[in-house]
Amino acid sequence: MLDVIADSLGLDRERVEGLVRSRVIRIRGYRGLLYASLRRELAGYPEGTVVIFGRDWSRVIHGYPPIQRAVLLRVAVPRHFIDRVVVEEKLNGYNVRVALIDDRVVAITRGGLICPYTTARLNRLLGPKLREALRELGPEEHYLAGEVIGLENPYTRYFYPEAPRFGYFVFDVFREGKPLPPRRRDEVTEKHGVPHVPVLGIVDKDNVDEIRGIIAKLHREGREGVVLKDPEYRVNPLKYTTPATNIGDLRIGMRFFMEEGRSFLFSRILREIFRAYEEGLEGPKLDSLALELGSAILRPAIETVKQIARGEMVAEEFELEFANADELNEFLDYMASLGIDLIVEKTWEENGYLRARIKKPKDTWIEVRKILETGLTPID
Ligand code: ATP
Ligand code: MG
Repeated sequence: MLDVIADSLGLDRERVEGLVRSRVIRIRGYRGLLYASLRRELAGYPEGTVVIFGRDWSRVIHGYPPIQRAVLLRVAVPRHFIDRVVVEEKLNGYNVRVALIDDRVVAITRGGLICPYTTARLNRLLGPKLREALRELGPEEHYLAGEVIGLENPYTRYFYPEAPRFGYFVFDVFREGKPLPPRRRDEVTEKHGVPHVPVLGIVDKDNVDEIRGIIAKLHREGREGVVLKDPEYRVNPLKYTTPATNIGDLRIGMRFFMEEGRSFLFSRILREIFRAYEEGLEGPKLDSLALELGSAILRPAIETVKQIARGEMVAEEFELEFANADELNEFLDYMASLGIDLIVEKTWEENGYLRARIKKPKDTWIEVRKILETGLTPID
């Protein structure tokens, strides 16, 4: 097994042994498949890369690379791109790579784990279509990367009218770690009825105002933002998010301010600093941004403190759909193996599926209880 991993990644066996011991490489199983995932970038393979192997075969699926963020479009776009820019919608969900392994459609999360919940739901929603698309592409070298959006998942929840519960939109088709041009992605996915991210325009790189117009519209609709790509993928993409998202993230994150809130704060404020600068916000417009930003930070956090002071628990809550109790248990075991103990509040049957209302307790709950008890803060 270690030899297969070493061979696949071009490392020597001792190195792999050390990396497994130090948990940089994590080995896990999913329904009879064994796989190794990289928890950080290694030997040119991005974090989240997986090596999946069977008796006499193995497959490497590269991690999805990070996308550089632009904060000043007028500067970044003309400098970064070559001639034209494909403006794609950035959907707000979680990143899932889909591969055909042993003729099974498997869903791999950003960190490089096969998520049983995502795999099962994706199979119900699009299984045969994904299989056909990958068969046409060549399932040995190709895999898809896309965003799962909607409310029914354990990771991120934003409402989208086009996929209120669970949807999947492909944003890249990879051949051995290299993305195909967006046009090719659209052809293949459309041919097989697999949804892809909306392409909002193809514009000249010097026409930044057109891109800004597209973003302004997304902002008004409360949508996340854009990913800008070269039509031939000659240079890496850039991402840009709307103020609606920057501030909305803070509002949501600050409910759990000792966790997400803390890591969200500076990055979101930075984005708004440069947006205010680029758009020349002044006077009452700047005042109203300041109030909105301040409220997004303070109000949800204060609400959480009050809730805990009243003796209530603070937890993320969501509803998931399963085929049956085995599938629910497989998912709970998977989360427990990651150190996350979920609480199943209740389950019921609906349209032939098992639905579960689930709570994920947050550290903020424990930390704030301590502060309320002692009157002291762990942070200076
Ligand atoms: P990173 O900063 O490392 O890219 P992240 O998930 O925190 O990771 P995001 O700000 O969400 O970063 O932006 C990158 C992610 O955006 C991608 O990993 C992908 O999941 C998602 N995404 C949504 N729409 C697209 C799209 N059209 N093209 C590429 N990625 C997209
Ligand atoms: Mg995201």
